[in-house]
Amino acid sequence: QEDAFLASVAGADRVPTGRRRLPRDVAAPAPEPGAFRNAADTDPAVAESRDWAARLVAADVEPPAGAVEVGTEDEVDAVVARAVAAAPAWSVRTPAERAAVLRRAADELEAARGDLVATMVHEAGKTVAEADPEVSEAVDFARYYADRAEELADGHVPGAVFRPRGVTVVTPPWNFPVAIPVGSVLAALAAGSPVLIKPAPQTPRCVRVAGAAIQRALDASGVAEDALQVVLSPEGEVGRRLVTHPDVARVVLTGSLETAQLFAGWRPDLDVLAETSGKNALVITPSADVDLAVADLVRSAFGHAGQKCSAASLAILVGSAGTSDRLRRQLADAVASLRVGWSDDLGTTMGPLVEPASGKLLRALTTLDEGEGWLVQPRQLDEEGRLWTPGVKHGVRPGSWFHLTECFGPVLGVIRVDTLDEAIAVQNAVALGLTGGLHSLDEAEIAHWLDRVEVGNAYVNRHITGAIVQRQPFGGWKASVVGPGAKAGGPSYVAQLGAWSDAPEVA
Ligand code: GLU
Repeated sequence: QEDAFLASVAGADRVPTGRRRLPRDVAAPAPEPGAFRNAADTDPAVAESRDWAARLVAADVEPPAGAVEVGTEDEVDAVVARAVAAAPAWSVRTPAERAAVLRRAADELEAARGDLVATMVHEAGKTVAEADPEVSEAVDFARYYADRAEELADGHVPGAVFRPRGVTVVTPPWNFPVAIPVGSVLAALAAGSPVLIKPAPQTPRCVRVAGAAIQRALDASGVAEDALQVVLSPEGEVGRRLVTHPDVARVVLTGSLETAQLFAGWRPDLDVLAETSGKNALVITPSADVDLAVADLVRSAFGHAGQKCSAASLAILVGSAGTSDRLRRQLADAVASLRVGWSDDLGTTMGPLVEPASGKLLRALTTLDEGEGWLVQPRQLDEEGRLWTPGVKHGVRPGSWFHLTECFGPVLGVIRVDTLDEAIAVQNAVALGLTGGLHSLDEAEIAHWLDRVEVGNAYVNRHITGAIVQRQPFGGWKASVVGPGAKAGGPSYVAQLGAWSDAPEVA
């Protein structure tokens, strides 16, 4: 029976990948005589990928059917009841069977790459260059968690038995509207739990397109009806009912610290695993390679317009790095060279905010506190307030509002200190502890910093966003994490989503 099951979901006859399906009808444009030309003008592969991107941003992807709309608490109870009913059939599948579904999901996601990218561009404001690798991250999660699921078989942990935990609600963020929902859903499915996912209100379509791909993999298994439901619910009482429902065993949240606190206030005994906010710094010492440090800083601060939990929003410059004209000039030039625009313009290198700037972000974009000045002053480009040029403020003081507050947008603050120990103290003064970076070419400095920095993901001589599945498992420390804290894309994430008990004695 297991063999038949595995064959039904393996999909060996499939030839996935959205790209390969594109017709190869794109001729490289003939250059004007005497005109400058570069590889993009003559290389058909580059022309093809440029054409692929152009078609994507023109596409308007219909949201797939299959999501459940709930408008009342009774309707929430009904979707939870369906998940409870789905649990037995799904939880008795063997780890290998669940792994096969995840691998099929990887193929389905890869085949849906074009739709996923287009939806992220239109709905989430991601550029193609940001959205395309996000699909790859989702596919990586699927394949990696499939491997981890196989490790849950009896006997893998001596004397312990893995058991599914029960109905799991996933509440993902809008900033990685494909990779994080897919990773969370597939990890919980891999752990044998039926899943209800409630998309962030800003990005329901992304979750629906990704959810439909996973659904196709589940459908092929034939035993997993209702193992995944995409639940579209309004915020407020209806959403609260879903999260706090007595038949929901666990909630997996990626979002702000405020949301984690809200959930805990709703139901103090709620079993929630959360990765929350960050106020992340990149430290640059005088030994650093300035070219690399500036490039990594700009990428970390302004990728997806700074709307990442992992983004750098502080640069801590040590000693002469803080007084270096070269570093200051390079940073200002690099920031000014970002091309701000809508994400369906292929020339855009920094896209829009998901919503008009307000609250803390608006304050950060428009206000200077004592001692601060603009190295690069942000400007609002559109009426609504979604398009802002990036800003860099210098003179940020340790202990100030900007030092300690997550603002989630395209503003970077520069703090100057005299020593590496002071830099570490400033970095660790933040209650949150998600990512942090060091640019230094001095091995003793690197070892010193790594021993002391209080973050979940510490990066040396690299940008501090864009964790790669398996290579850089991603998760927080201190106030950035709720629950045991096994990292996403890491070896224990799937196992953490189940329940472990002693192996039963069989007489
Ligand atoms: N995993 C993402 C990264 O490494 C960050 C996810 C988030 O913002 O929550 O950049």
